[in-house]
Amino acid sequence: MSKQTDDFFKNIVSHAKEYGFVFPSSEIYDGLSAVYDYGQLGSELKNNLKTYWWKAMVQLNENIVGIDAAIFMHPTTWKASGHVDGFNDPMIDNKDSKKRYRADQLIEDKITRYEKDGKTEKATKLQQDLDDALSTDDLARLKAIIEEHAIVCPISGTSNWTEVRQFNLMFATQMGAMADGAEQVYLRPETAQGIFVNFLNVQKTGRMKIPFGIAQIGKAFRNEVIARQFIMRMREFEQMELQFFVRPGTEMEWYNKWKETRLKWHLALGSNPEKYRYHDHVKLAHYANAAVDIEYDFPFGFKEVEGIHSRTDFDLKQHQEFSKKKLQYFDPEINQNYIPYVVETSIGLDRLFLTVLANSLVEEDLSTEEKQDSRTVLRFHPVIAPVKAAVLPLTKKDGLPEKAREISAKLKLDYNIQYDEKDAIGKRYRRQDAIGTPFCITVDHQTLEDNTVTIRERDSMEQYRVNADELTNKIGELVSWTNLLKQLV
Ligand code: ATP
Repeated sequence: MSKQTDDFFKNIVSHAKEYGFVFPSSEIYDGLSAVYDYGQLGSELKNNLKTYWWKAMVQLNENIVGIDAAIFMHPTTWKASGHVDGFNDPMIDNKDSKKRYRADQLIEDKITRYEKDGKTEKATKLQQDLDDALSTDDLARLKAIIEEHAIVCPISGTSNWTEVRQFNLMFATQMGAMADGAEQVYLRPETAQGIFVNFLNVQKTGRMKIPFGIAQIGKAFRNEVIARQFIMRMREFEQMELQFFVRPGTEMEWYNKWKETRLKWHLALGSNPEKYRYHDHVKLAHYANAAVDIEYDFPFGFKEVEGIHSRTDFDLKQHQEFSKKKLQYFDPEINQNYIPYVVETSIGLDRLFLTVLANSLVEEDLSTEEKQDSRTVLRFHPVIAPVKAAVLPLTKKDGLPEKAREISAKLKLDYNIQYDEKDAIGKRYRRQDAIGTPFCITVDHQTLEDNTVTIRERDSMEQYRVNADELTNKIGELVSWTNLLKQLV
């Protein structure tokens, strides 16, 4: 990270904390590694992002329905899905610093350094060696690569490494009161399996016809070997996933459609298109026949925000085998029974939240010849802004607070509103800019005479007067979900 991008990232983290978006978990006890709490504005923003996803997926598509499955699932689920045996990361410890690393990430960092130094051939060869070692689960080879390329611990600077070991990322716990009768269960590492095990329940009760999808938003848990970069890699996070069931042989058509649809969804939020790219997977997971990541250019480089995977019939077939229950669909159009193929879209809500912060946070220089000035603004799309409008009486006397409260009471039936009468008006505007409120409504003496108020827009800082009775409609036009959703249809 360059100094500038490093500073920008630090700004995002501190701004998120200072204004009540994201706090470290249990901070009074010095926090818990890679676990975060969303504050009063963070939870509003997160809810709006969930609503945007849900509306785009479920509300706009008559063949997609949503569910809310439990976090705990029968433990056999995770045997069938392959997570008990295969959901591992290769880890390695440095004996001097006692720090733990993911062996593959240490090697990836080295590849990045070779690339930066212009050693392209070396980088390509190392990438090839890494891919080979990972695809054959060859842990000894990973260790050998680390030694061959003299990779050292960033803390101790030494290459005094342990062997590479596999580390399962699932959190296990006990269900039931009696220690000996208790059953080991897992906190789900992905929400997808809750959809697969409910495939027939939903298909039958909803009388769904293929192609159709099941969507879900929910928590997932992964005991990441190293978790870093704020809410980018957490141990408890939230996913928004769609499993789209299709007739075998049509999956590539749907895969391409979802690949396009999902990028469009990201861009509709007003983000800079140059910040996004597709990253096609060359090496595919054993269950996939195509996979792509939508990556965002974070201050620390392009990283995955969302994955789109063509998962074949792997999951349903596995569950059919382990549960001994038929998980098939009768397709009346071709008069055949089959296990459907699946195209999945899987986005991390927390990573999305971080892209939105990174996209929106700007420091604006407002200096004039007379004086130096600047402001910090969160330029959220108005529809997802945590607070839609702030109602501000110009002064605390002459009946202005009463009038402002009256206006606010009406608006809050429709929108999340803040009322603020403390400090000078300019300072209050800046406070609202910093939390991304698109509109400030100022009540002044003229309001008492003609019932008009001033609207001040966040981005342009333009001000104009409207009748207070028109505010509900006026704000409605600007923050309506239609503004976002119409771009998708
Ligand atoms: P990565 O390679 O970054 O670990 P992944 O390929 O394991 O991610 P998936 O299993 O495809 O991720 O999960 C789907 C989405 O869930 C990811 O695109 C990401 O947005 C999110 N996600 C996965 N792991 C985490 C995590 N530890 N913290 C926050 N979000 C996560």
